[in-house]
Formats: sequence, structure tokens, C-alpha cells
Amino acid sequence: MLERGKIAPEAEQGARDGLARALDAGSAVLSSGGTALDAVEAAVRVLEDDPHFNAGRGAVFTYEGDIRLDAAIMDGASRDAGAVTGVHATRNPVSLARAVMEKSPHVMLSGVGADQFSREQDLGQVDPSWFATEERRRQLDVMKADKTDWFDVDMKYGTVGAVARDREGHVAAATSTGGITGKRWGRIGDSPLIGAGTYADDRACAVSATGSGEFFIRESVSHEIAARIRMLGDGAAHAADAVMAEVTALGGTGGVVVAGADGSVASSFTTAGMNRGYADASGARRVAIYGDESLDER
Ligand code: ASP
Repeated sequence: MLERGKIAPEAEQGARDGLARALDAGSAVLSSGGTALDAVEAAVRVLEDDPHFNAGRGAVFTYEGDIRLDAAIMDGASRDAGAVTGVHATRNPVSLARAVMEKSPHVMLSGVGADQFSREQDLGQVDPSWFATEERRRQLDVMKADKTDWFDVDMKYGTVGAVARDREGHVAAATSTGGITGKRWGRIGDSPLIGAGTYADDRACAVSATGSGEFFIRESVSHEIAARIRMLGDGAAHAADAVMAEVTALGGTGGVVVAGADGSVASSFTTAGMNRGYADASGARRVAIYGDESLDER
């Protein structure tokens, strides 16, 4: 649980350092005039390589003890999108999602076909041992021993995501995850589903989500936030809070980060904490974990 005192100091510091490095990677792209799309991919790649997060290295295990990764990316300028689900050899699934968007006629590829496309695109491949960590193995063992709660926020979340707005006013979103510990039967969560865990539209905002994916799919969370902004004229914070209230009403938990096309930023979460960070053109960079920490984003 992301509550003070309930997270090991090393894990907390590791998460804060990882967020800071991801913000720096995204900011470096934006401050040199790069696009929001490049920035979110750069930020998510850093988090995928960091074992403190449930994406790429450090991803959770399936019931069978494998790693199956999901990722998505979306460009708000064109509303082009790419996504992959169930891949197991691509070091940076977010870059595979981007390749699907830019180098294939499709939006979403899955499993062995996605892995094959990844090799054809010459994306970095790694042995499954690259992704595996002892802590995630322990979590699978605990989950199997006590299979009472499939959405135990104590250890199953940790999906990574990034949203950005660039100099030209374009927004983009990217999300990457191992899904939930002990997933089976080819289960796919919200993260790679455009409109559920990931969405970007220059007319509204970019959104990336984490949480109990099934509820986020049913609520079409990220599209719903964008739709509220575009059609109701909601501010980003209000739209995010309103849609997270709907998720709560369905029984789900989790949170979102939002970058408004108007330059606003917001995060909203129903859990005690959510790893998050914010950087802007002035060089300001803030990282927060607990609910009582502010990014001064509203
Ligand atoms: N939303 C992810 C999923 O359901 C899990 C997470 O956020 O950690 O696949």
C-alpha cells in the first residue's frame, strides 16, 4: 500500500529516483524542441528499464510464472495510436507500440505476432530473465497462497505512464505494464486499450491510467476524461475527478495523470498514494508518492 511507513525506504527512494529520471528524460526532449510523442516515449522507456515499477524490467508475473507485457502510445495531434499486448521479449514495449503506430497499418498487435513484428523492426530483444525480479516472484507466491483479492493494491499496481504537452501545443500519452500479478487466460487490462488506459486528443488532453484495469475498461476512463473536457468544457482536474468517481462507483480503484491541451495538468487517484511527477519548461520538477504530497498542479 502506498501509505507512509508501509513502503520500504529503498523502494520509496527507488521510485522517487526513477520518477525523477523519467521526468528528466521527457523534459530533455521537450526543452530541445522535441514532440510530446517523443517525450512520453522517452519517459516511459526509463521507467520500463527501472525494476521499481511494474513495466518492462520489474513487471509482475503471470499465474504460470511468465512475464507478459502490454503497452500503448497515442499522438494527440493526429490521434494515431499503437498498442501491444502479451509481448515477452521486447525490452521496451512502449517503443514497440510506437512502431505498431508508425510502421504498420494496425493499431494493436498481440502475443507471438507482436513479438515477430518487434524482431522485424529490429527493436531490442532481451532474455526473459531481464524482466524478472525476486520481489515480483515473491508477490506471485503470496498471491497464489491467498487468492482472495485480484486487485490487491498492496502490490499489484505500478503500471507506468506519461503524458506531455509540447511547445506546439500537441499532447501525447503512453502507458506500459506487466498487468496484474497472477493474471491468466490471456487476460488483458486497460493499459494497452486506447480509450481505457491511454488516450490523447489535442482538442482535449492526454491521459494515462493505472489501477484495476477491468473497471477502467468498463468506464472507458481515458476517453471519458477527454470527452468531458472536449464536450462539457470541464477543466482537466474536474474531469479526472468526475471519471474516477465513476470508477469508484463501479468498485474499481486506481488513478490517472492528465495533461490538458490548454497547458493544465492534473492527477486524480482513489488509492492512498500514486507515484507521480511533474516537470515544466521553467525547469521545475516535482515528484510525489503519497496522497498528502502536492505537485501544486491544480
Ligand atoms: N491497470 C493495469 C492493468 O489492469 C494494472 C496496473 O495499473 O498496475 O493491467
